[in-house]
Amino acid sequence: MSDTDALPVDLGASFDNAYARLPDRLFARVAPTPVAAPSLLALNRELAGQLGLSAERLADEAGIAALAGSRAFEGAEPLAMAYAGHQFGNWVPQLGDGRAILLGEVIDTAGQRRELQLKGAGRTPWSRGGDGRAGIGPVLREYVVSEAMHALGVPTTRALAAVASGETVLREQPLPGAVLTRVARSHVRVGTFQYFTARGDTEAVEALMHHVIEHHYPQLSSAERPALALLDAVMQRQAALVAQWMSLGFIHGVMNTDNCSVLGDTIDYGPCAFMDTFHAERVFSSIDVQARYAWSSQPAMAHWNTAQLAQCLLPLIDADPQTALPLAQASVDRFEALFSDSWSARLGAKIGFAPGSTDSPDAAARILALGRDYLSLLQEGEADFTRGFRVADDVDAARALLDAEPVRLDRWWAARDAALAEAGIGAEAASATMRAANPVRIPRNHRIEQMIVAADSGDLAPLQALSAALANPFEENADLADFEKPPSAGERVERTFCGT
Ligand code: AMP
Ligand code: MG
Repeated sequence: MSDTDALPVDLGASFDNAYARLPDRLFARVAPTPVAAPSLLALNRELAGQLGLSAERLADEAGIAALAGSRAFEGAEPLAMAYAGHQFGNWVPQLGDGRAILLGEVIDTAGQRRELQLKGAGRTPWSRGGDGRAGIGPVLREYVVSEAMHALGVPTTRALAAVASGETVLREQPLPGAVLTRVARSHVRVGTFQYFTARGDTEAVEALMHHVIEHHYPQLSSAERPALALLDAVMQRQAALVAQWMSLGFIHGVMNTDNCSVLGDTIDYGPCAFMDTFHAERVFSSIDVQARYAWSSQPAMAHWNTAQLAQCLLPLIDADPQTALPLAQASVDRFEALFSDSWSARLGAKIGFAPGSTDSPDAAARILALGRDYLSLLQEGEADFTRGFRVADDVDAARALLDAEPVRLDRWWAARDAALAEAGIGAEAASATMRAANPVRIPRNHRIEQMIVAADSGDLAPLQALSAALANPFEENADLADFEKPPSAGERVERTFCGT
């Protein structure tokens, strides 16, 4: 190694590391562990541009080494964050970044603070028995699915790059190692608050809350009770997020409080999956044996998670528990109504009713009932979720897809068209609403698996093709017809794994 190899790499980022300025006990300063032989798997040039980073420099040898954790980024102050969490409902007092290292925060070209984190960057004080590393499969899965979620309009962490480490990680079998560069507005989770609450460290909870409000919810700083306003805001975002997930047939799979972002972003793409054939109770994660995080259970779980945040914020809502408790309870009790509003709007749009197309509660209830009826038609007809909704403006295609239920489908169609007419929504407007709410292409499980198998043996073409196909998911494109198709019986993937 020459002397210049040891110097931090200047990638043009202007870091402002606010998290590193918080009290020491919120994190551990730890640098990534260098890897054997870094090589680039994927680079998100568009995101690099938004972050004010030079894609050219990221893609050269020094840049790739920095993305692998083998060289420092100029301006970074790497650290691992402390957090705890409820995993599948069980309290775990100490989790923390065991294989992820926060490099720091850059202010992007829009003035927005964005954290850069390397996932699979080596051991930290929170690694417990783990190796701090990640395999190429989970890294590419997160890369593709998080970017697909962004293209679908879902709030999410992003993926800047994936690099192969040139090392082997030992899981059930030896796998090629990789490092993901994840970008998030913030990596603070409900579990970050819980870590300090569990230790009786109200000062740290307060510092964390001020950090989150100052940088991510500045409008709340002037609220009469900022802690209560924060709780309300997180609930609102979580309710909206889960409604949006469900509207796309997305199942997060591991909605533990340590994977529940206080920004309301989708975070931690472990065993997540988009459904092919619709079933409300669908579960993919191999470790979710009790179906805690099934598609239809997600609102209740997000509600449960935000109730844990309420516990943490209680002493900051009011010093007197007699005052704080009823305020927090009232806030938590609003979750169901918040979710129901978001879900009605999303589901309504999927069958042609633009949000706000009616102010009559009766009409709104009828639209929701129509949406639910359509879901039950899809479920009973064992239809593909994404295709099923995409044809909701095309009666012939819908009849072909739902051929098992022709009478019910025709009855539904007539009722929906009558409701559209009553709301004064013409066929073209309804169709435009549906086409903007119902994607043509989603990251289907079998496509992800095929992409990973190919990448494992050095073929990155499927990764590039899949990423490109998912960049404009609502646009019809005959050239991409293969990516629309549900899996054949032999291709179907029914189980997903965390891969940690
Ligand atoms: P997750 O299932 O990704 O939410 O991770 C749960 C916890 O396990 C977190 O504290 C992770 O940092 C930790 N963890 C997961 N994989 C590893 C690994 N390979 N090495 C060290 N810690 C890990
Ligand atoms: Mg996690």
